[in-house]
Amino acid sequence: MLAQTLCGKVSKIYCIDIQKRFGRLYFLPESTSKTGRSNCINTEIMNHMEKITLSKGFTLKLAGMPDTSVIQLPRPATVGVSARDIAHIRPKLLVKENDSVKTGQPLFCDKRDTSIQYVSPGTGTVKKIVFGKRRRLLEVVVALEGLDDFIQFDPVSASHLNQVPKQDLIHRLKQGGLWQTLRQLPARDTADSETAPPLIIVCLNGNDIFSPHPALVLQDNIRQFEFGLSVLKQFSNRVIVAARTNSLKLLAPVKHLITHEVPDIYPAWEPGAILYHIKKQAKQNAAWYINVQGLVRMAQFLETGRYPVDTMVTVTKGNDKKPHMITRQGSPIRLLAGSFPLSSLITTGQFNGRKVDPDSHLGFFENTLNIIPDAPADEMFGFIRPGMDKPTMSKAFLSTLLDRKVQMDCTMHGEERACINCSYCENICPVDLMPSFIMKALVSDDIEEALELGLMDCCRCGLCSFTCPSKIELTYILSQGMDLHHKDKQG
Ligand code: SF4
Ligand code: SF4
Repeated sequence: MLAQTLCGKVSKIYCIDIQKRFGRLYFLPESTSKTGRSNCINTEIMNHMEKITLSKGFTLKLAGMPDTSVIQLPRPATVGVSARDIAHIRPKLLVKENDSVKTGQPLFCDKRDTSIQYVSPGTGTVKKIVFGKRRRLLEVVVALEGLDDFIQFDPVSASHLNQVPKQDLIHRLKQGGLWQTLRQLPARDTADSETAPPLIIVCLNGNDIFSPHPALVLQDNIRQFEFGLSVLKQFSNRVIVAARTNSLKLLAPVKHLITHEVPDIYPAWEPGAILYHIKKQAKQNAAWYINVQGLVRMAQFLETGRYPVDTMVTVTKGNDKKPHMITRQGSPIRLLAGSFPLSSLITTGQFNGRKVDPDSHLGFFENTLNIIPDAPADEMFGFIRPGMDKPTMSKAFLSTLLDRKVQMDCTMHGEERACINCSYCENICPVDLMPSFIMKALVSDDIEEALELGLMDCCRCGLCSFTCPSKIELTYILSQGMDLHHKDKQG
């Protein structure tokens, strides 16, 4: 009955009352109780897959799906290590302009734990250090010169992994610039190496609809993937590997390692959404997660003792079907994006990415660029046009009936207005939140109320902002609330 309550089968008022009295995070959503989660707790990676079902989210036929061919891009003239996409970091610079740096040499660290270092993905000279408002570090740009001269660490082989003490492994990964690929929910901060996570989620599909296909990332790295999973088992006795249904066909060589199948409804493959649908206890909220590229790179570093400089990225641009690209970590955005109209918006996710400066470099965690055309001028009689190629969630346009791909643009279709209590945001939220209620609690500075309504379960998918007819930036408001709460807790 309580699960039914949370699924919105009784009145909203009663639902909030129940949440307040008992604490939302201790309940199981009804959708997962149907999937037989009693099998979930396991100390080994399982040989069978569990299906996670999602009753909410958004399925959108978007144009721009990348091709499954892979090309290697030429070496860029510069690489950047960006601090823009690293949540919660307090960067401390370790180099100055015109310094010579080797591949794998630290450029900056996190003041909160100076052993966590962000290293240069190439050998050359520090060309520019870019600061933002209040001298906040944005990125360190390195001009590449000659062949790579690597900082060399002691390698760790798969057969000797069990002989390496856990603290030694953590220390190597921090010094090598790969520890931060492990993130901790719900705030998505760098994993706390002083704690043992209740579980680690390995996400084979990235944050975006068009993130690199995991089969292409793994095609020459299956051994490293297996090694990476063994490394994760040193940190937690429960490691789950989740993949989208439509990725499974090409993932046959690693199918035995996949423990959870998630549907192709956005954002079912997002770690916060996965955790919400499998967790049994509140303590599991502190799960760690890592994406497939991060795990492979971590394994490559341990195996060779050298910082792995390559990464795979996708670029989506309208109906242009581009191949997957292997390029150097931190490549320039202009090199990756190619030619595009100056008025375009470049984001790192269709619904939840950040806006990217075309003159900057790809962020540490980013592997997708979406080039979204500028909004066309006001359409005459736009309100009576059928909208055959417009994305719609409310089925307001004819595109909802047609089997054709739609394209995002920057049109807002109006300005911000007051909330009209339409519940669109609630009906689409993949983790059963009531974003409008949480937003109102946050706007009136009532963080306790927001927490009781499940703020920290938000997976920042961006769907509530996308669907809101009043154009309220719900995801931004909720994300700010989560970040402030995390900062307060850290002191
Ligand atoms: S509140 Fe919004 S951003 Fe958060 S999970 Fe729900 S729909 Fe996504
Ligand atoms: S979708 Fe927007 S207008 Fe509708 S309830 Fe949510 S916040 Fe309010």
